[in-house]
Amino acid sequence: MANQVISLDRRVAQFLEGGPKMLYIGGEFVASASGKTFKSINPSTGEELKSVYEADKEDVDRAVHAAEKAFYGDWSKLTASERGQLIWKLADLIEEHLEPLAQLESLDNGKPINHARTADLPLSIDHFRYYAGWATKVSGEVISNSSGKEMLTYTRREPIGVVGQIIPWNFPLLMLAWKMGAALATGNVIVFKTAEQTPLTALYLADLINEAGFPPGVVNILSGYGETAGEAIVQHPRIRKVAFTGSTEVGKRIQQQATGNLKRLSLELGGKSPNIIFSDADLEKAIPGAMLGIFFNMGQACSAGSRLYVHKKVYDKVLSEMKAAASQMQVGMGLDETTDIGPLVSQEQFQRVNRYLTEGHEAGAKSIIGGQSLDRSGYYVPPTIFSDTNHDMSIVQDEIFGPVLTAMPFDDEDDLTEIIRKANASEYGLAAGVWTTDVRKAHRVAHRIEAGTVWVNDYNALDAAVPFGGYKQSGYGREMGSYALDLYTQVKSIWVNLE
Ligand code: NAD
Repeated sequence: MANQVISLDRRVAQFLEGGPKMLYIGGEFVASASGKTFKSINPSTGEELKSVYEADKEDVDRAVHAAEKAFYGDWSKLTASERGQLIWKLADLIEEHLEPLAQLESLDNGKPINHARTADLPLSIDHFRYYAGWATKVSGEVISNSSGKEMLTYTRREPIGVVGQIIPWNFPLLMLAWKMGAALATGNVIVFKTAEQTPLTALYLADLINEAGFPPGVVNILSGYGETAGEAIVQHPRIRKVAFTGSTEVGKRIQQQATGNLKRLSLELGGKSPNIIFSDADLEKAIPGAMLGIFFNMGQACSAGSRLYVHKKVYDKVLSEMKAAASQMQVGMGLDETTDIGPLVSQEQFQRVNRYLTEGHEAGAKSIIGGQSLDRSGYYVPPTIFSDTNHDMSIVQDEIFGPVLTAMPFDDEDDLTEIIRKANASEYGLAAGVWTTDVRKAHRVAHRIEAGTVWVNDYNALDAAVPFGGYKQSGYGREMGSYALDLYTQVKSIWVNLE
């Protein structure tokens, strides 16, 4: 297929003009206190895309001051309905800017432009709209009490105050929406840090936050590194809660650091999710489902179905059809409309995935397709499927976060003991998939799998109303749905003596 690289939207070209992109603090665009900058790289080419000011401790402190000013000032004067309207307005503006935001996301992260247009952006818009609706629906309750006095007791759900939010690079805008929607609906103010690999779309969005009319300081956006700006957020005594999405390794570190000031935490961490195809599955759906499960976003998804278990009766058929489908996937630049598999996000991620490809081969796994990175500029790894794998291999145990599938056959059909044991043989517990036409089997497996999300005859379905989060070392706390409101509110009990 001929390449179809799109030309840049005028608004993206404008955004990329001029000096380093600034931090967004107190409604204004400002340089970092240190004056230091870093480069955001275009992973499709390996070249510099834009330089960005680098936030550190002092900038985090400035952002906390701005956020507190808003929290005790203009933001607190708005009604819940007005808050909801602002969030809705922001969603409308993102929709108006869908094309430039999708292009910028593709440039900064490498993801195929068509995925940014049809998944990242619509899901982000929907997410803000969903939480706009919640702003007016957060309520306490009146509780009867047996104190012996005539007493009114009721609860209020109040915002926590300044919350810190730290996100990864795989879905920069969508992760931002997941974090900001619920926090704003419940009346909090935000100090937000993007991932150092993908700072740009959040800074574009900062303009839209101003245009929507949010009081200055309600949202502050910092570009910077984890060990500096990230740790400063985690350690700041007046940031009362941190919501983090990222690796399990960094999640553990954050938990240790947050014990010092008893910060509330919610952690959305890594995964190594099992996807199970039984012999009675509708393979016309299961095979594309397994492909989407692993290759969506180049496998850089926390929920990636990276351990594929296929019943031995259909194992050969499933693998040969997946191989054929993978050979049809177009590997190319993010901004090419024909691209199915873009580059990985960074040189570091590219090296990490390559290391796993080598380890897989050395351990005796066979790549039936892919297995080697491409020799061209940019960070390209083609879709890879490993057969002959087992649970002792690092490629089966570790989260690779690349387009690399490990496939294994299984035997039992009705007992389920073997397959449940294998599916749960991981320290992670984020997601899982089950493909079968037997409704009883589907539910029995779904109940016994240790994971925060189980998809039956589907994979990677998401909705703002449905909670998402991990079991085991995939973290704790649930984002999305009504569950996320608990992360951003605290309950106050009020006693009124009426005698
Ligand atoms: P990462 O943990 O390296 O970084 C994530 C964020 O944390 C970045 O913004 C980074 O700057 C920051 N950070 C790094 N060190 C820090 C520290 N010491 N203190 C504070 N902040 C710090 O992860 P990544 O490589 O950017 O993203 C990939 C990981 O994210 C994968 O493990 C993936 O599974 C996970 N993820 C999870 C979900 C989920 O919902 N569970 C969603 C997307 C990604």
